[in-house]
Amino acid sequence: MVIRSVNLETVCGITSKIPDNPFNEVAFAGKSNVGKSSMINALLNRKSLARTSAQPGKTQTINFYNVNDAMYLVDLPGYGYAKTSSSEKEKWGKMIENYLHTSKKLQAVFLLIDIRHDPSANDKMMYDWMVYQGFTPIIIATKLDKIKRSQIQKNVKAIREGLKVKPGTVIIPFSSETKQGRDELWEVIDSFVLP
Ligand code: GDP
Repeated sequence: MVIRSVNLETVCGITSKIPDNPFNEVAFAGKSNVGKSSMINALLNRKSLARTSAQPGKTQTINFYNVNDAMYLVDLPGYGYAKTSSSEKEKWGKMIENYLHTSKKLQAVFLLIDIRHDPSANDKMMYDWMVYQGFTPIIIATKLDKIKRSQIQKNVKAIREGLKVKPGTVIIPFSSETKQGRDELWEVIDSFVLP
């Protein structure tokens, strides 16, 4: 994908109406600090378009990035930040649920998991929830540069088993530092959004 233009077009808070966008969307979810902002920046060749969090858990909005006036990357609020109050957690949960329900243009959901760690209870909940909503989530195993090459297969398997993913589920190891996995990820995104 050649990035010709990127525009943070809509930011939805708790009470905002989900936009009725003209182009296809793909959405990204993951726990705070998993590397979601860095991944979006890497995908879009921008240094700091999406916030990279000094303060994890701060981004409690759904952000719609218009790419090339052809598609949207949708940044869902990060979850699982320990200091978030339960009422806040409930709010972001409702927000994500509302979006997954409401969007007419959402083609695929991606769940980010740190390649170094087994999925958490929250990760499993999010995965199961996406499946329940009718999606087959694609997994992005982030921070690939932080492990040895010899560990990749084992860790990917641990994610596969930890989430009990549906057979045939795609898991893409990815590094925002080295951009490894970027081309493969774009190929998958393109396969969902291009006409
Ligand atoms: P978010 O909360 O999911 O948006 O996570 P961020 O993108 O803000 O990343 C959290 C931290 O992990 C930051 O300190 C990033 O620099 C770091 N990070 C994110 N992605 C990578 C990666 O691929 N490799 C390495 N080494 N660090 C990363």
